[in-house]
Amino acid sequence: MAIRLPLVVANWKLNGDSQLLTEMVNNIQQLDADNVEAVLCPPFVYLNEDTQDVKKGAQTIAIQDSGAFTGEISGRMLRDVGCQYVIVGHSERRSLFNETNEIVAKKVLSTLAAGLIPIICIGETDEQRENGETTAVITEQVKAVLDVLPNYSDSIVFAYEPVWAIGTGKTATGDQAEEIHAMIRKTLAGYSQELADLTRILYGGSVKAENSEELFSKENIDGGLIGGASLDVEAFRNICKNA
Ligand code: PEP
Repeated sequence: MAIRLPLVVANWKLNGDSQLLTEMVNNIQQLDADNVEAVLCPPFVYLNEDTQDVKKGAQTIAIQDSGAFTGEISGRMLRDVGCQYVIVGHSERRSLFNETNEIVAKKVLSTLAAGLIPIICIGETDEQRENGETTAVITEQVKAVLDVLPNYSDSIVFAYEPVWAIGTGKTATGDQAEEIHAMIRKTLAGYSQELADLTRILYGGSVKAENSEELFSKENIDGGLIGGASLDVEAFRNICKNA
């Protein structure tokens, strides 16, 4: 079994400022890099700041590399300011900015083309879960990306985020999440066993310091994508320590 270094990603969404970024960096840079990889994804305007040894990621990316696309930010620019990761297809991008599976797949390709690692968000809504569509929805989201990958050796990350758990305070139990993560890994294995062994699958949805230990203890949960709790320095550091 391959070793997957736990990954914990802070998704600040439309929150935070340069002072919080400095405080966060000062508090998490002592974490043991052999045990956990921490990545901060503040809004675009803070990505140019020096985060020392702490890795940076963007919250979205343009499909295009350059040109007349007012307001967009390309992978080349993200790489230029030292980003290593890009969150792609977050449920808020899917629901509020109409990002379809097809658009998400294109954004994964533009991320990889820039030499960055996509953190691909997938997950079912409350209604889809109630209707017993969870497996079908997630499999379709995963396949939409895998079907366009030029090869399976590029590093990618998936984040399973049940939409009903994002920012709601409701979290999937460790067992509920593990069942879905195992299913995602099995889908990856259908494409490449190496991809399945190496790809980190994060859990996201109201993760806090208190519930992170149980979630991260599961075999197929390789870390977390953290929203609300990533704005609290102490909470985020404790979540990283639990990974
Ligand atoms: C997220 O935004 O990806 C997220 C999981 O948010 P929260 O932790 O606040 O539920």
